[in-house]
Amino acid sequence: MPADVGTASVSLTDETDRPRTLRSVAELVDARLVAPQAADELEHVTRRYALAITPAMRDLIAGESPDGPIARQFLPDPRELVVGPGERIDPIGDERHLAVKGLVHRYPDRVLLKPTHACPVYCRFCFRREMVGPGGEALDSRELGVALDYIRERPTIREVILSGGDPLVLSPRRIGEIVAALDAIGHLEVIRVHTRVPLVDPPRISAAMVAALESRKAVYVVLHANHAREFTTAGRAACARLVRAGVAMLGQTVLLRGINADAAALEALLRAFVANRIKPYYLHHPDMAPGTSHFRVTIEEGQALMRSLRGRVSGLAQPTYVLDIPDGHGKVPIGPAYLDGEGRVSDPAGVCHDLMR
Ligand SMILES: *Cc1c(COP(=O)(O)O)cnc(C)c1O
Ligand code: SF4
Repeated sequence: MPADVGTASVSLTDETDRPRTLRSVAELVDARLVAPQAADELEHVTRRYALAITPAMRDLIAGESPDGPIARQFLPDPRELVVGPGERIDPIGDERHLAVKGLVHRYPDRVLLKPTHACPVYCRFCFRREMVGPGGEALDSRELGVALDYIRERPTIREVILSGGDPLVLSPRRIGEIVAALDAIGHLEVIRVHTRVPLVDPPRISAAMVAALESRKAVYVVLHANHAREFTTAGRAACARLVRAGVAMLGQTVLLRGINADAAALEALLRAFVANRIKPYYLHHPDMAPGTSHFRVTIEEGQALMRSLRGRVSGLAQPTYVLDIPDGHGKVPIGPAYLDGEGRVSDPAGVCHDLMR
């Protein structure tokens, strides 16, 4: 947890005078992102859940209203302390499939490797919010070695997904070591990285980071973004550096009330991905993480949004709408069905056609 008892005047720049990540309510007040009267209440929230807002996201929040789509994702909110029915600490059951420390093996052909629990920003709706946070629980080199041995010994594993936390908060040197180790495992075909860094902290995608991600294997970066506004000039350039280096990019989005759960916002986001050479991969139905009910939409609302895209928006921009079934049963598509059991199919306009006639 961050030290949230800031001194009266907190410097907002580091020694090189570059703006730095805001990590306490006092810093949010100083940056005028929250009112001083709200500070006490918000400190209860940040004692429970980590806080971080990068300079890039701070600039976006400063330019919008307090209930704007970027502010809602990153500014703490008292509603986070209200645990709704069905909400749970480990909403998707990762613990159940923990093979060795930092490695989740739920599907035969791929594993999640979590070298760190830190993130560049802490999303207020995060499904791993009970696990993520600064300072804690990075794998040390011995533990990483154990995880790599596990992968080496199992030829059915074809793909390693670096997740966390956000793996790209690690230094290029450490990322380079992990990628090199994976590169040397003969049966691996794909290295996948799940991250928000290219948009929320573009300077981290430095030449050294791009070089660290280089491999003879296929490297996929799955970029988490939830609103078109996240695609700033610097963020788009960071994505372009990855694409130019031969990285394939996919997009993933959490469907969130007040952020992207309306047809116009969702369409703009999906089009922004595609325009930046990023194929939308998953639209996640929100998980049952504690204190996130104010973000949640119903599956019916999600399906209606998916229908609104079909036939109107390029096929390149259509993600698969998925739900992670609680308790570790895995992800399944929950998009609307266009074909019923009687051989009738509805077209994008909602008109039904009988295939049997
Ligand atoms: C989501 C997830 C994956 C990746 O699933 P894909 O459908 O291949 O994107 C792998 N392992 C775990 C434990 C996951 O939660
Ligand atoms: S970056 Fe990912 S893991 Fe980190 S807080 Fe956001 S959703 Fe959670």
